Amino acid sequence: MSILVCGGAGYIGSHTVHQLVEKGEDVVIVDNLQTGHMGAVNPKAKFYKGDIREAEVLDRIFTENKIDAVVHFAANSLVGESMTNPLKYFNNNVYGMQVLLEAMVRHGIDKIVFSSTAATYGEPERIPIMEDDRTEPTNPYGQSKLIMEKMMKWVSLANGIRYVSLRYFNAAGAIEDGSIGEDHSPETHLIPLILQVPLGKRDHITVFGEDYPTPDGTCLRDYIHVLDLADAHVLAIDYLRRGGESNIFNLGNGQGFSVKEMIEAAREATGLDIKVEIGERRAGDPAQLIASSEKARKVLGWQPKFTDVKAVIGTAWKWHQQHPEGYQD
Ligand code: UDP
Repeated sequence: MSILVCGGAGYIGSHTVHQLVEKGEDVVIVDNLQTGHMGAVNPKAKFYKGDIREAEVLDRIFTENKIDAVVHFAANSLVGESMTNPLKYFNNNVYGMQVLLEAMVRHGIDKIVFSSTAATYGEPERIPIMEDDRTEPTNPYGQSKLIMEKMMKWVSLANGIRYVSLRYFNAAGAIEDGSIGEDHSPETHLIPLILQVPLGKRDHITVFGEDYPTPDGTCLRDYIHVLDLADAHVLAIDYLRRGGESNIFNLGNGQGFSVKEMIEAAREATGLDIKVEIGERRAGDPAQLIASSEKARKVLGWQPKFTDVKAVIGTAWKWHQQHPEGYQD
């Protein structure tokens, strides 16, 4: 039996495929390579270039392979883009989930692990955020992921599919040998943008606001290493295989780091100076997003291995140094 990874050529998808392959699982990947990269496709996995919104693509994969469970990463994930083009998110993310679930029902596949996000919460009502806290997304990206969770919920009740939804906080870092890593275009995330300065690709990093109600005035985020996220998917598959009920888990380190602290940690990790400018707040950024991941630790037995933020940035630095222009495909 194989695991189907939708979006296995993306950042978190490719790291999860790596961990699954390491564990001895047979992996099948489907990716339309719209934001994923051929260079991120694990050579030990079977690869289909295709779009999950096309039922025939999924029918072919489910017919040609014995699929035990699906891990679903195939979605757009840029908050800013979702504000200006919400329908892109409802089409690719929400409609993509519909076609995928329909195919799973048709082919009798009953387990799915889903890539969700802290953006489902919106402005948090308390810190750390717990899984049953209010979900009121403040952008179409978070809204699309919340709708996808609800779709799985109702389908699980009607059609017997069980799901695990993993709400990531700030994914960071890369595999330790630097062979795969983060490559978004345009890049909007803090760590890769900070590292573009010592790479010589950008003159300075702009801090988006230093007037937040936090100790140094800059936003606090919970950075979690991409391999720790990947491990949670492996554990979630095992949990569903053991008969675990449908569930939602936060994935974070439980510790908040400010933008300024991240820049300082990047200076230490690279040993290079990083020029900083202070800019305006970015619309829609909550002051703090910090997870309680107690539930994932207790129920899934998840234990993040990368707890030192400098070491996390160090793995990202290795990837970017080896691939200053990303995957180039
Ligand atoms: N940020 C920043 N400068 C940048 C990019 C990001 O100050 O060039 C801040 C952003 O306002 C947020 C934090 O860094 O407080 C993390 O942003 P990112 O986009 O990486 O992740 P998000 O928390 O939005 O998912």
